[in-house]
Amino acid sequence: MSGAGVKMTETVAVPVVVPNSAWRREVEKRSGQKVTACYQCEKCTNGCPAAFAMDTVPHRLMRQLALGLESEVLAANTFWVCASCETCTTRCPNGIDIAHVMDTLRQLSLPGANPAAKNAAILNSEFLGSIRRHGRVHELEMVTGYTLKSEGIAGLLRQTGVGLGMLRKGKLKLLPSKLRGVKQVKGIFRRVVKG
Ligand code: SF4
Ligand code: SF4
Repeated sequence: MSGAGVKMTETVAVPVVVPNSAWRREVEKRSGQKVTACYQCEKCTNGCPAAFAMDTVPHRLMRQLALGLESEVLAANTFWVCASCETCTTRCPNGIDIAHVMDTLRQLSLPGANPAAKNAAILNSEFLGSIRRHGRVHELEMVTGYTLKSEGIAGLLRQTGVGLGMLRKGKLKLLPSKLRGVKQVKGIFRRVVKG
């Protein structure tokens, strides 16, 4: 018989963590960064302007990476939300270029692994494509391309009213404006593609 205030013992399932050092080494090789040097000081997370929108904040992602937890890392929205501002890279006392690690994860991520990652990959591609063509983002083109690829014609039709309203108010431009330095921007993209 149990008296008042005596709690029943509960069985708590402890998740089994299976490290995958081969995958961690692959990320380290591609990024050129030693993620195992991270000692969890949290300076990256504390300075990250996008941490509020991440489901796994940067220092936690680095820990998962060090353990080689491939599916956990690739299921996170962290590297898609990352704005590549490099604040974390500047703050890391171990000299880890975390922003580059995020970029590597974007490249390694398989679109389709989770719907959020797939849509983020589409947005990333439309955003960069627009900058490559015009030297700066043409919002109407980017949003149209993104909506069409992520939601199809039905999604595009759903958004038409909003788009027309924004065009009427001058919030969106019908035609892209080009930067004077568009050739240099195209050159940057060419150099990046060549690696
Ligand atoms: S590069 Fe990405 S992860 Fe690093 S501070 Fe900026 S937004 Fe955060
Ligand atoms: S700042 Fe560097 S050492 Fe500190 S938690 Fe982030 S990655 Fe790890």
